[in-house]
Amino acid sequence: GRTLFPVNEDAGLKPRSSAKQPKRISVLGATGSIGESTLDLVGRYPDDYDVIALTGNKNVARLAELAVQHGAKLAVTADAGSYKDLLLALAGTGIEVAAGPKALLDAASRPADWIMAAIVGVAGLRPTLRAVKQGTAVALANKECLVSGGEIFMREVARHGATLLPVDSEHSAARQAMTGTEPDKIETVCLTASGGPFRTWSVDQMAAAGPEQALKHPNWSMGAKVTIDSASLMNKGLELIEAHHLFALPPEKLDVLVHPQSIVHCLVQMTDGAVLAQLSCPDMRTPIAYSLAWPERMYVPNERIDLAALGALTFEAPDPERFPALRLAKEVLETGGGAGAVLNAANEVAVAAFLEKRLGFLGIAGLVETTLVDCADLIALSADSAEDVYEIDEEARRRARDRLPRWAGADAGE
Ligand code: NDP
Repeated sequence: GRTLFPVNEDAGLKPRSSAKQPKRISVLGATGSIGESTLDLVGRYPDDYDVIALTGNKNVARLAELAVQHGAKLAVTADAGSYKDLLLALAGTGIEVAAGPKALLDAASRPADWIMAAIVGVAGLRPTLRAVKQGTAVALANKECLVSGGEIFMREVARHGATLLPVDSEHSAARQAMTGTEPDKIETVCLTASGGPFRTWSVDQMAAAGPEQALKHPNWSMGAKVTIDSASLMNKGLELIEAHHLFALPPEKLDVLVHPQSIVHCLVQMTDGAVLAQLSCPDMRTPIAYSLAWPERMYVPNERIDLAALGALTFEAPDPERFPALRLAKEVLETGGGAGAVLNAANEVAVAAFLEKRLGFLGIAGLVETTLVDCADLIALSADSAEDVYEIDEEARRRARDRLPRWAGADAGE
């Protein structure tokens, strides 16, 4: 049968013991939460890795520090205006410096055996597609790429023979649980959600919640955008769409279960009734390490699960009434076409506005829903190239921003 995870034998993924050469790696989004965790692992085995390119955006000081610490060949800020600052910060180090969108694409094209795609948002789509073009291994954290442009993205992965290694903890778990099973013997893939900080909150309480409350994730330490997405459960919706593209699974085979302890990351049910799950403490270094060491495993000195101390692992169905974002994402998954790009664009606008206190928490799903209604024409379009995706994205953003004043200030009950 068809293999779920085609492997490019030339992708530089030979076991470390037989590979004399260090693995050449690049990290797109090096200064972020995933980027830092990736470099934490890399820094523990400096002889095994040769750091080629590190990229960031506004946090130039940290980018320079990381580039020096890991002996990167190239440091790139996506922000053209930060060029001088980065140049000054790296003066005399011999590290090549560049800035701006084109430099970011060039960084993604620098030959590497393994590239971490950890830019946040659809801003990561073009650079990640460049990385895919190398036909080597791409570790994918940037789920928005797949939500917006899943079809063209997966087509490019196949065309260039790249090996796509999921980094999202649920998808890494799914992949681990599915390996060795024929795709048609997989009945359902159930992603778990912590439920976020508002799992037990009433709608009225959520209506009054600001960024301070929404950013307090009970289990995971992550960048701001994905933390807000976790609070609204939009994150789980985005992950359903991500899983659909990554594993070629139809919507009816995908499910979500709330699991407040964040120990079980995914449950894969087979046709014989067996369920395989992957468990680990909520630390992104575990799924990142799985992608970095793949097809082997590496030692990660993080916390181990103590089930006796935990006592119980609990599960509950998500509440679609209090968390409408999950319902919206499911509808988008069924719709297909340009719907993913519209959903993602509206959500990026909404989350940014919420973080700037220009939109209430309930306004996030509200704005996304009205934008989806407003964008029926865009949703009907089929995105055949990254350019098409960006066009839909830009127009949907424009319409979401136009709608923003209507949602700003007006929250619950609208
Ligand atoms: P962060 O916000 O912590 O980091 C984002 C990174 O992207 C930073 O390096 C940032 O640079 C860079 N960046 C931001 N905007 C741009 C832009 N316009 N162009 C180029 N680079 C840009 O995010 P996370 O690390 O939390 O998340 C990264 C991705 O991984 C997201 O898609 C997220 O959903 C996904 N993910 C994250 C998890 C986590 O635990 N954090 C878990 C699972 C998935 P700078 O710092 O200089 O601004």
